[in-house]
Amino acid sequence: MAASANPEGAAARIVIENCAIATVDANDTEYASGYVVVAGNKIESIGAGKAPEGLENVGRRVDGTGHLVTPGLVNTHHHFYQWITRGLATDHNLFNWLVALYPTWARIDEPMVRAAAQGSLGMMARGGVTTAMDHHYVYPKGSGDLSGAIIGAAREMGVRFTLARGSMDRSEKDGGLPPDFAVETLEGALAATEETVKKHHDASFDAMTQVAVAPCSPFSVSTELMKQGAELARRLGVRLHTHGSETVEEEKFCHELFGLGPTDYFASTGWLGEDVWMAHCVHMNDSDIEAFARTGTGVAHCPSSNARLAAGIARVPDMLAAGVPVGLGVDGTASNESGELHTELRNALLINRLGAHKEAALNARQALRLGTYGGAQVLGRAGQIGSLEAGKLADLVLWKIDGIGHSSIADPVTAIVFGAAAPVTLSLVNGEPVVENGRLLHVDEDAIARVTRDEAQRLARIPAES
Ligand SMILES: [Zn+2]
Repeated sequence: MAASANPEGAAARIVIENCAIATVDANDTEYASGYVVVAGNKIESIGAGKAPEGLENVGRRVDGTGHLVTPGLVNTHHHFYQWITRGLATDHNLFNWLVALYPTWARIDEPMVRAAAQGSLGMMARGGVTTAMDHHYVYPKGSGDLSGAIIGAAREMGVRFTLARGSMDRSEKDGGLPPDFAVETLEGALAATEETVKKHHDASFDAMTQVAVAPCSPFSVSTELMKQGAELARRLGVRLHTHGSETVEEEKFCHELFGLGPTDYFASTGWLGEDVWMAHCVHMNDSDIEAFARTGTGVAHCPSSNARLAAGIARVPDMLAAGVPVGLGVDGTASNESGELHTELRNALLINRLGAHKEAALNARQALRLGTYGGAQVLGRAGQIGSLEAGKLADLVLWKIDGIGHSSIADPVTAIVFGAAAPVTLSLVNGEPVVENGRLLHVDEDAIARVTRDEAQRLARIPAES
């Protein structure tokens, strides 16, 4: 990309025009044919028709004919390391699946985690994800700098990223689900989490890396770690993330162990609030949803994973009606082997129509909002990303909709949500191209395919007792 002469040293502008645009702003403003001007890492202007005349320092003009431009997709729940344990325990429910896979997961090391992060990030970025997150909670003793490896992979790919530094300290001997050798101590988990926040969290407007405090789940974490984790996050000014209300078995576990349902247990440990988002939230009654709405607690809806593990259907229409912030999540790829988020727009819409609200459950524009602005809300970044508005960060995607898969569908948003996963012609993160014509620009996809296969095979070869 040739930049023109620029006496003020400002970054060259990128002008995109002749495209349909869905801004996903508060009014769902759309343009049948419009433009976006990117200056540096921000959107400078956006509107109908052609870009303003006389713009200086234009480094690149993109003819968006045959494309829909949307905000970049925001993923709100994932476990990158699972990229190298896909396709296993394929016919299990959550608890059986976890028990089958914990012994394998507990043997991961830094090269495995780096490769898995590259595979997970690459697959999402190719499909229009501009902000990724990883809830990583398996830190075997002596396994190296896993958080650093994950963050490094995101930086290399060029995507915006939140690491939810997870932890587990409730193993089988304490009534939990993970084996004893797969967990950290309470003190060790808290100290390592604090160190990760201090080393990597960036609170600035255009931060590329943020860190959240993220004990894994009620059945793998002590009450003390939940409480002290919440206190740590609030002392450090970062967000809180965990799994919640995923299955009927978890609900039963909470009642037996704590005498409370999951949401009441979270309330008792300081885990409701506008700085908290929780994955799944499938088994919620009316008062649980009301508690989430009242406190501003967010939800990462993971429709494919919930279907894969037969967990149930989250009540997304009821959550949205109550005012709960809801984003979409791939979840770990050991329970959603495709690892793509653009297909989750479609799956969220279809799966919710199987629930109580039937065909009125979600429409195409609501599904797009879940995957963009809703995701930004639950990651605490709605002021910076998630919609296309002047002054916000330039994270956007050009979806090709004039090909065989989409050209006969008149409405562009219907085409990308109801239709096949649309090809990505260009995605920008922080004003920088990350994908062009469906290929990742900053990494070698074929090398990632090889290294992820090799690391998956190496993990599979390590004997279970080692
Ligand atoms: Zn998960």
